[in-house]
Amino acid sequence: MKIITPAARILAVDDGPDILGRLEFAGRICYKSEEKISADSAAPFLERIVRSGHHSVIEHASATAHIVCDRGVSHELVRHRIASFSQESTRYADYSGKRFGREITVIRPCFWPEGSPAYMIWLDAVQRAEAAYFALRDAGAAAQQARSVLPNSLKTEIVITCNMREWRHIFELRCAPAAHPQMRELMLPLLRDMHRRVPALFADLYAAFERDMPEPAPPRNAVAAPLFPKQATSPCGTATTP
Ligand SMILES: Cc1cc2nc3c(=O)[nH]c(=O)nc-3n(C[C@H](O)[C@H](O)[C@H](O)COP(=O)(O)OP(=O)(O)OC[C@H]3O[C@@H](n4cnc5c(N)ncnc54)[C@H](O)[C@@H]3O)c2cc1C
Repeated sequence: MKIITPAARILAVDDGPDILGRLEFAGRICYKSEEKISADSAAPFLERIVRSGHHSVIEHASATAHIVCDRGVSHELVRHRIASFSQESTRYADYSGKRFGREITVIRPCFWPEGSPAYMIWLDAVQRAEAAYFALRDAGAAAQQARSVLPNSLKTEIVITCNMREWRHIFELRCAPAAHPQMRELMLPLLRDMHRRVPALFADLYAAFERDMPEPAPPRNAVAAPLFPKQATSPCGTATTP
């Protein structure tokens, strides 16, 4: 069994200046103020649009992200009805096959230090689930039947595309302290990346969640696992449950 950390990256977003020009044009049509368009008018105009709540304007640009997470987190993501999704299928992916090295991959829970009692209970449970999956496959069950015993921690990959208004909505909900810690673990860095690319559309959200942003991850071998998770400053350590 492989145990990995989750990841999220922006796959495609229109070039920042292109987005701003298009969105400014769409917005200024409303006010018939196109004559005010200049080389540097877009960002402040769009910041005002966002502040005013005139958010339909920012639906004219979209972005795509590739997310590697567990099935629990992906189940929450696909509740967002305005977005489009493509997700790894546990019907068609047969983890007993050579392609997968006859093992499952699970996401390391960010809230339990490796080796802690809770982590060891989790590890035992996912190992048993893996063993049951392979026992079912060996007994003749199809992958789509054997998946019944796969754990919530199973790694999945999902590609999400939606417009910038919906991205703002997703970040608002999924970066908040009430969101699941593993959701925040992914969404806070993704918001940081989105803000870096298109600050005019995400500055207010970035400012709201900046203090919760994790440091960029150092190489895995360079950090010791935290001994006291309650004192951790990562989204996992500070999150509260709803
Ligand atoms: C902290 C937290 C806890 C949660 N707990 C639970 C839970 O216990 N059980 C559970 O089932 N879900 C739960 N959810 C999921 C939640 O109920 C929503 O399904 C999910 O967050 C998607 O958000 P949304 O519906 O606002 O947005 P989206 O589906 O992304 O839609 C965006 C916006 O479009 C509008 N919209 C979309 N569809 C409609 C529609 N049909 N009618 C009117 N307006 C629409 C709304 O304004 C909506 O906010 C939780 C979510 C969070 C963040």
